[in-house]
Amino acid sequence: MDVLDRLTEEEEFLYALRLETRRLQAAKPSALVCSCGEEIPALRRAAIPGVRFCIDCQILNDHPARPGLSSRLR
Ligand SMILES: [Zn+2]
Repeated sequence: MDVLDRLTEEEEFLYALRLETRRLQAAKPSALVCSCGEEIPALRRAAIPGVRFCIDCQILNDHPARPGLSSRLR
């Protein structure tokens, strides 16, 4: 029983590792321009690998219920 338990733990660990590896490999290069046409600053692209959105769109995506937030942060 102990051996089986350990096997399962190892399998779960390996499975999590595989998922993480796949997630990292799936990360696309950062976009130069957001889908709204706004240029994504180089610092933002460097800070967030695979970033797709400008700051405004990211805020809108993260907080769709607060549309006024982006203009205050600009
Ligand atoms: Zn945008």
